[in-house]
Amino acid sequence: MKNEKRHIKIGIDEAGRGPWYGPVVACALAFDPVNPLPREILESIGDSKKISEKKREKLFYALIEESERPNPTLYFWVGVVDNNAIDEHGIKWATREGMRRAIIEIGRKISSSYMIHSVLIDGNDHFTFEELSRDPVCIVRWDAKVKEIAGASIIAKVFRDELMKTYSLLYPKLGIEKHKWYGTQTHQTNLTPETITSFHRLSFEPIRKILEKKPRLLLHVCCGPDATVPLMDLKNQYDILAFWYDPNIQPKAEYEKRKKAFAKVCKREWIEWIEGEYDVARFFEAITWLEHTPERWEKCKNCYDMRLERSAMLAHDMEIPYFTTTLAISPHKDLDALFHLGKKSAGKYGVEFLPISFRKNRWFERSVEYTKKHGIYRQSYCGCVYSEGYAEHAPKAWKKS
Ligand code: SF4
Repeated sequence: MKNEKRHIKIGIDEAGRGPWYGPVVACALAFDPVNPLPREILESIGDSKKISEKKREKLFYALIEESERPNPTLYFWVGVVDNNAIDEHGIKWATREGMRRAIIEIGRKISSSYMIHSVLIDGNDHFTFEELSRDPVCIVRWDAKVKEIAGASIIAKVFRDELMKTYSLLYPKLGIEKHKWYGTQTHQTNLTPETITSFHRLSFEPIRKILEKKPRLLLHVCCGPDATVPLMDLKNQYDILAFWYDPNIQPKAEYEKRKKAFAKVCKREWIEWIEGEYDVARFFEAITWLEHTPERWEKCKNCYDMRLERSAMLAHDMEIPYFTTTLAISPHKDLDALFHLGKKSAGKYGVEFLPISFRKNRWFERSVEYTKKHGIYRQSYCGCVYSEGYAEHAPKAWKKS
């Protein structure tokens, strides 16, 4: 009698094609043609999506146990393709690759007295594999009708779910228990560039869009020339709102002149801006008894404080998470004091201060080149009536008083 090999049928299904996170998992499963699976297990196997989570898990462990018997009643393998490969090659490639890996490994596990007769895949991708002597049969919704596909679907789903539960332990604040990594509203709401993890599929459009979205920054600006370099350097990284707040520039005509120069820079750089209060009285109140301290000393520190606190308050009111100031570009300003006061106000208003000095990368030359090229007014004194050099600019009436 001819020693013919028995035929064996493989069913394949995958899990995790849709989620925004983690690998895609494919499972290939075959029942042993000689040792039948216990009837109660076989009858319980059905469409994994219609089986309760608890029952699915029970079946998963029962199937594993059956595959580990000395005379197994079934064989299976899972092919896992991670999110990095999905990003590099696309989800369709990754799904096929997961199936290919599962086919190779199940082939090694199946007894040498069996021959793979047919491979059935749920779905309509019509994948083909060099490793198989004939093309698989692909058809939609076979996971409900073919026990091999249904079994593969249960194993792929539970295997991936368990993997996801482990990943989720690393990120307890992302609401994973609700969205299970699918693109739900909760998942989308919880995602920011900071909460995107190394397991997210960065090539998926919603994630890509979030990554492309720049964080908002309120940039306090004190004059046109000092706005040039910070705006040029920060605008690729942040969505900037420039805040013109120079409450103590005197005379008022000088204030208007500086504001005009600043507005010209914003226009050139396509930056939106808003104006704060012109509040000389408040400034005088803030520096009472310190009027004649030298520049950079106590008077100036109160002046920085006033500007930084107002900026922090505005960032908070406008729900802008970050703020910083162009005051930090000037070598005439005390950087340590500025950073200390910026952080103090940030803490008070629940926003974050970015301590950036801007004094690098040829900042001064770049600012001068810019202002010359575009005709931006460059002032010659700090701003208040106590600034060194103010006297030359004071209105005549003021000089006399
Ligand atoms: S000199 Fe400049 S920094 Fe100092 S108080 Fe006057 S405007 Fe403010």
